[in-house]
Amino acid sequence: MHDTNRPVNPYYSRTDTTKLDVPDSIWKRVLPPDLYEVARHGATEQAFIGKYWDYEGKGTYYCAACGNRLFRSDAKFASTCGWPSFFEPARPGSVVYREDRSYGMVRTEVLCGRCGAHLGHVFDDGPPPTGKRFCMNSISLEFEPDRPETKKPQ
Ligand code: FE
Repeated sequence: MHDTNRPVNPYYSRTDTTKLDVPDSIWKRVLPPDLYEVARHGATEQAFIGKYWDYEGKGTYYCAACGNRLFRSDAKFASTCGWPSFFEPARPGSVVYREDRSYGMVRTEVLCGRCGAHLGHVFDDGPPPTGKRFCMNSISLEFEPDRPETKKPQ
């Protein structure tokens, strides 16, 4: 539910794919604090507590910060890592990558292709067909179930 003390996020759209270049100070005003910390400061939510790590619904995952289409449930797999994991993004431009050398490791950070929000990291220990494991923060994602199929006429 929308917090009435917070301005509505004017950048959120499920259809507009125009790249966003919004300063941090504005994101801080329009995003909930926990999402802001992950999306703009690369915080990581605790394993096994996010809402999607073991979720199996059929549908689409969008960027919680901007509404960009990120992943399909078809590419989600049961991972023991405690974060929602996918083997591929919804389309090539859904996400972008950046080298992350924090914490004495070399990892590939995954960012939203539209708004640049931090989503998580990608690793090479995923299942076929790609062998990739997109390890995401639940809070950076927003799930929308597929519409139930329309009933066929009798
Ligand atoms: Fe985004």
